[in-house]
Amino acid sequence: MTASAPTLAVIGGGQLARMMAQPAIALGLPLRLLAEGEGVSAAQVIPDHYVGDYRDLDTLVKATDGCAVVTFDHEHVPTEHLRALAGSGLAVRPGPEALVHAQDKGVMREAISRLGLPNPRYAAVGSLSEIEDFGFPCVLKRTRGGYDGKGVWVVRTAAECEAPLASAAASAVELLAEELVDFRRELSALVARSPSGQAAAYPVVESTQRDGICHEVVAPAPGLDPDLAGRAQELALRVAGALDVTGILAVELFETADGRLLVNELAMRPHNTGHWTQDGAVTSQFENHLRAVMDLPLGSPAARAPWTVMVNILGGAAETGRLYDGFPHALARDPHLRVHLYGKELRPGRKVGHVNAYGADLDDCLERARHAAAWFGGDLGDESE
Ligand code: ADP
Repeated sequence: MTASAPTLAVIGGGQLARMMAQPAIALGLPLRLLAEGEGVSAAQVIPDHYVGDYRDLDTLVKATDGCAVVTFDHEHVPTEHLRALAGSGLAVRPGPEALVHAQDKGVMREAISRLGLPNPRYAAVGSLSEIEDFGFPCVLKRTRGGYDGKGVWVVRTAAECEAPLASAAASAVELLAEELVDFRRELSALVARSPSGQAAAYPVVESTQRDGICHEVVAPAPGLDPDLAGRAQELALRVAGALDVTGILAVELFETADGRLLVNELAMRPHNTGHWTQDGAVTSQFENHLRAVMDLPLGSPAARAPWTVMVNILGGAAETGRLYDGFPHALARDPHLRVHLYGKELRPGRKVGHVNAYGADLDDCLERARHAAAWFGGDLGDESE
């Protein structure tokens, strides 16, 4: 007789939950979804879903009824609700004490300092005079509720502080001032960690943002000093262990011109900078997230090819973008291309999918992935004839 698989609850119906469904099928692991609406990205592919508001404890209790473990598509579930769920015997992974570091940038900065790991210079600021004392130019960030560059402002003058101060006051969140880091590039160190303490570190990647949104990822980061790559992996493993993270942890890092690493932010869920692993690594971040939160042995994070390039498909001018109707040209042009669409409507600036191209030649991978993403997004004219 075989034991039946326990059910894993996932809170949040975005593309990350959707992409957890693929390895869940392969592992024979039943998923239960709490989605914010009927028809959202993950609800399209996870039949066992419940629609409701993740900010409501009753809804969370009902949606996770009968599940053994709960994990997340986003980090916005209120910490006190997570404590209540954990108190009722549900395994919450990552747990509230870990997750708060991905919810609150102030708490995260303090933890990174406490661990003796490198932060940019930072301070909590509540008024214009405190920002002026910190000094211009600087970066102002809402401690909570920001994403994809929303809630992050580069300010150089007192006048530019008005909008961030008003935004923080309106929603009663705090503001953090950070030095404007003159970085050479942004790196991401991704690790998976299980409750038993097993951990796996993926190759360190380079990510490029456009308008605050992750746009392109190259794995591994080209030309990265092996010693610095090792330090980035160690740093991420150290954070995962010290904060008792379970599942995937992404540590976004700045590489400075003089070869230092500074922590930018933490995410405790599969991350955009890990989408390359779906086609470029032995075990994808989505599968390792599931294995980790279920406390199963982790899969190898090793790369399958010398290079993998991920480019996000962002809606350009919505009228010229393509989704399903982009396939004939994109797939015929490049039979090695891997396309991942999220079941979302095209809207200008919205992430609706990504492509992965892997191979032995970085320039070739970059050209193929950029071309395909631009084609779907609508930045290229009709060249299919
Ligand atoms: P979000 O939560 O929206 O992802 P981040 O804190 O990651 O916000 O900031 C978004 C982007 O803004 C970063 O990827 C980076 O490009 C830029 N940025 C953030 N903090 C700094 C900083 N201290 N110095 C320079 N650039 C920064």
